[in-house]
Amino acid sequence: MEDTKTLHIAMFPWLAMGHLIPFFRLSELLAQKGHRISFISTPRNISCLPKIRSNLSTLINLVSLPLPSRPDLPSDAESTMDVNNLQQQPLKHAFDQLRPALVDFLESSTPDWIIYDYASHWLPQLAGELGISRAYFSLFTAACLAFIGPRSDLAKDERSTPEDFTVAPKWVPFESNIYYRLHETTKFIERIDEDKSGPSDLVRFAISVEQSDIVMIRSCEEFEQDWFDLLRKLLEKPVIPVGFLPPVTESDVGEDDSNWVGIKQWLDKQRSNSVVYVAFGTEPVLSRDELTELALGLEKSELPFFWVLRNSPRSTQSTLEELPNGFTERVKGRGLVYNGWAPQVKVLSHDSVGGFLTHCGWNSVVEGLSFGRVLVLFPVTNDQGPNARLLEGKKLGVEIRRNERDGSFRSEWVAESLRLAMVDDPDKLLNRKTKEMMRCIQDKDRNEGYLGRLARYLEVERRQVG
Ligand code: UDP
Repeated sequence: MEDTKTLHIAMFPWLAMGHLIPFFRLSELLAQKGHRISFISTPRNISCLPKIRSNLSTLINLVSLPLPSRPDLPSDAESTMDVNNLQQQPLKHAFDQLRPALVDFLESSTPDWIIYDYASHWLPQLAGELGISRAYFSLFTAACLAFIGPRSDLAKDERSTPEDFTVAPKWVPFESNIYYRLHETTKFIERIDEDKSGPSDLVRFAISVEQSDIVMIRSCEEFEQDWFDLLRKLLEKPVIPVGFLPPVTESDVGEDDSNWVGIKQWLDKQRSNSVVYVAFGTEPVLSRDELTELALGLEKSELPFFWVLRNSPRSTQSTLEELPNGFTERVKGRGLVYNGWAPQVKVLSHDSVGGFLTHCGWNSVVEGLSFGRVLVLFPVTNDQGPNARLLEGKKLGVEIRRNERDGSFRSEWVAESLRLAMVDDPDKLLNRKTKEMMRCIQDKDRNEGYLGRLARYLEVERRQVG
């Protein structure tokens, strides 16, 4: 065993807010342990990060690498939020083109570890050649990673049809409710087929996992013990939970932020625990039909709501125009539709919010549960379907019913789920389970334990260079 020492850790997240935020949060926590962090991203993404707290400013170095421009990308696009569906793959290609600049940085600054994300499949090999230890930081749950499976050579994966993904894979030895619904997996497979100009997300992901020295997961053993055990067997390498990394309200926006002041005034007028916060993260784009049914469902639920509705990237039309005729007038006073970037953590922390209608992005799930908000699950893409199954299985949310084949749904089903979560839960089971989970996520000793074990592991197991 080597002596422990202060480490230099490079962090390299994928270009998406849902990845930059937890990578940044982990950076802060590792810096609090005295380690030096180089947080590497592109200029605009770096400018969107929360302010570094003054006691950590000498330990966290923000490294800005300009994103190479490409004719198939808008000139100001630097994250998934800035591009439409067809531009997602070009954004990945631009990200891949950061490789030479990243190599220069790694060669000159020789970090002990690099903590990286699923998209940079080319990174672990080159980091290995430079003698840098490699940690893949998964923002997917252990259940989701185990569902995807162990092999980098996905050609060997016998699953090829959408139906194959609607059941548990054969390497799961216990009863499992982690699977995709048919409509979710059809969309997923269509996307892979659509653009073959580069490696698919699954290939990027599998190589990133396989060539890592360790896998770190934003979850905890108590939450998904079976899946952690299985994943260790499948991957045959250390799989380290880092805890849930609960959000801190101060890093969202200041109390005097003008957007927050307006939102807070509205929330202050509502009854405690009465409001449903509705938001679908930074990436999902909903169809007009989906928006209509959701809107009518919110209306029929008769519950107060605060709905964050972002415009589609690059669209010249406001999403508000796609809402059903007369909707905003009919719900006036009871429901507010907010068009833009919302201070989500601050909203969720407000006492009048009781429930969260979410797309089940893992950040949103952790944020909602960490304030004890009952979840209404409306998964759209990526890992969100399996996340919804995992949560519903643990009675940590109620999933809105959808047609299995085409994903269509009716406003009545939305209203039903909302009322079940907020008022009609007969034995308050959802509420009790949610509050238990809130305590688990907020448990300071447990979080400190996970982080301490991670930091010790990184200190002791770093590669010895030279
Ligand atoms: N977010 C926010 N305001 C918004 C939209 C998103 O603060 O208007 C934050 C949200 O709090 C979360 C992240 O962006 O931390 C979105 O991550 P998530 O995993 O929930 O969804 P994704 O966008 O990755 O699908």
